[in-house]
Amino acid sequence: MESFEYTAHHPRVVFGAGTLSRLPAEIARAGGSRPLLLSRRGPVAGVDAVFDGVAMHTPVEVTERALEVVRERGADCLVALGGGSSTGLGKALVARTGLPLIAVPTTYAGSEMTPILGETDGGVKTTRRDPALLPATVIYDVELTRTLPAGLSVTSGLNAMAHAVEALYSPQANPAIDSFALDAIGRLARALPRIADRPDDLDARADALTGAWLAGICLGTVGMGLHHKLCHVLGGSFGLPHSETHAVVLPHVMAYNAPTAMARIAAALGVSDAPAGVFDLAARLGAPTSLAELGLPETALRTAAVAATETPYPNPRAVTADGVERLLSDAWHGHRPATAAGDLSRLTAQVVASFAGAPDQRLAALLGDLVTRLHGFVADNDLTEAEWTAAIGFLTETGQLCSPTRQEFVLLSDTLGISSAVDLLSNSRSPDTTPSAVLGPFYVEGPPVKEHGADLAEGLPGTPLRADVRVTDVDGRPVAGATVDVWQSNQDGYYDVQLPDLEGPVLRARLRTDGDGRLWFRSILPSEYPIPDDGPVGRMLRATGRHPYRAPHLHFMISAPGHRRLVTQLFVAGGPYLDSDAVFGVKDDLIVDFPSDEDGTRRVAFTFRLGPDSAGD
Ligand code: NAD
Repeated sequence: MESFEYTAHHPRVVFGAGTLSRLPAEIARAGGSRPLLLSRRGPVAGVDAVFDGVAMHTPVEVTERALEVVRERGADCLVALGGGSSTGLGKALVARTGLPLIAVPTTYAGSEMTPILGETDGGVKTTRRDPALLPATVIYDVELTRTLPAGLSVTSGLNAMAHAVEALYSPQANPAIDSFALDAIGRLARALPRIADRPDDLDARADALTGAWLAGICLGTVGMGLHHKLCHVLGGSFGLPHSETHAVVLPHVMAYNAPTAMARIAAALGVSDAPAGVFDLAARLGAPTSLAELGLPETALRTAAVAATETPYPNPRAVTADGVERLLSDAWHGHRPATAAGDLSRLTAQVVASFAGAPDQRLAALLGDLVTRLHGFVADNDLTEAEWTAAIGFLTETGQLCSPTRQEFVLLSDTLGISSAVDLLSNSRSPDTTPSAVLGPFYVEGPPVKEHGADLAEGLPGTPLRADVRVTDVDGRPVAGATVDVWQSNQDGYYDVQLPDLEGPVLRARLRTDGDGRLWFRSILPSEYPIPDDGPVGRMLRATGRHPYRAPHLHFMISAPGHRRLVTQLFVAGGPYLDSDAVFGVKDDLIVDFPSDEDGTRRVAFTFRLGPDSAGD
């Protein structure tokens, strides 16, 4: 069970296209009447006073200059319009004045959703966190993001994705933030290629900005790990550009931290290997993929690695200077990150491709999907060699136990519910026909042909039973001459094939319906019985606390020309194990009353409705 703490401090959000028009109302809502706009752009409707000296990394000297303008203008409200740099200046002024801030972000950096302020003073970057720094309102106007150049959109979007990725393995991770993070990752991964293709695509912009908002909440709510630390060092100490650095470093940190959270991220991205998926996305969309490209000298790698590991902080994998240096070297060279998951997806693809030449395409498709799922099973469960060896041993024993009278593989299929699953999907599609049920392991080809009224028990002890059977089509018309195979257990629950001392086939027969679609026979009441549990299937049942019993039933296999063959079972109403049949074979419509005559004979009367030959095929 997960335990967590979660405090939400998310600012009010006004989202849409053209929402900048709501700025005057939001200023009034925040109690402002003399707003100051912090933006590299000119004035906007409702705000004439502008400070346009916004600079990257919030240098304190810029903040001091802006502070003078705040005082000169008697500003009572701040409006930060632009990327993370404008928002940063806004927060720096909030820290010094306590004025309300309205943020109008035009990139995907996410700063507007965080109580974090990073400032540089004399080249040294310091960070503080205070909920009071959060904007009163954030206006997301999708229209304003249309002018963000494609390249910057992609790197800024990857900057946002980095917040979501690190949130998923944060020590403060919780279900709310996880769902924001995964949603953000999916939206950004879908939107960025469309934006790169058509930067003015408003729908794609809306998706990316929504992703940025959610990713910003992640960044503002839970602690980040190695990725943010590294980008902080590379930006702060080496002057590397903010979003581009995030875009280059992210896949390498993901590979470093894999497999933690990577399966969920891969699913959100729609790829098999998350780190390689992010790298490929960035490369495909023309984002920088190497630190060398960003101007970092190779000699700086060690220094950066040491700086990023000086003080400990939570990260899924321990951060060591050597490990981080290797990571940075990969990022510097622009290598595509290699992970076990990446190698596995290549291996899976190779095996699937190996079936491509099969003349039977259905066989190729089935084997390809089986292999893909089995590889996924191995990966998702971190299957150990010992576990796989045990599985091989189990299957070997299952095969070795099979003989003409013992079908351990059918038992395995039955007890895992696979026989019922195949039956359910391939045989029971028509509501007008009698439901089918599994064949089970005790059917024997060519049962003895018997006349109506024959006693299938041939004198074996048990409660006498009379069965009256009718076979019709879906419209209730009798099916004459239908072949009806019947087989069942004795009163101790054994089939004849399980009793080597028994003479010949017994409790099994082949009968034919008369012109009215009817037949009848005598027998004994079937009883519950354990499926053979002296083999590997029995061991599996015991290992999982399951019993081996089947609810009492009669088996039927009915065929007639022009009709679909029906394999089914009739269960004795009120019998034991109807709710926990070991092979999951019981269906409500097949539970039938077997009332008692005065002489103690039990009776069952049932009409089987056969579908036409083509139905459900
Ligand atoms: P930015 O604000 O510097 O903007 C990058 C460039 O894009 C600028 O030249 C800007 O004028 C231009 N631009 C922005 N929006 C545009 C638009 N819609 N159309 C055309 N041009 C546009 O960069 P950023 O990546 O948004 O933010 C980076 C800064 O934000 C860094 O200083 C970083 O440390 C900070 N940041 C802080 C936090 C936090 O929580 N404190 C979070 C993320 C980023």
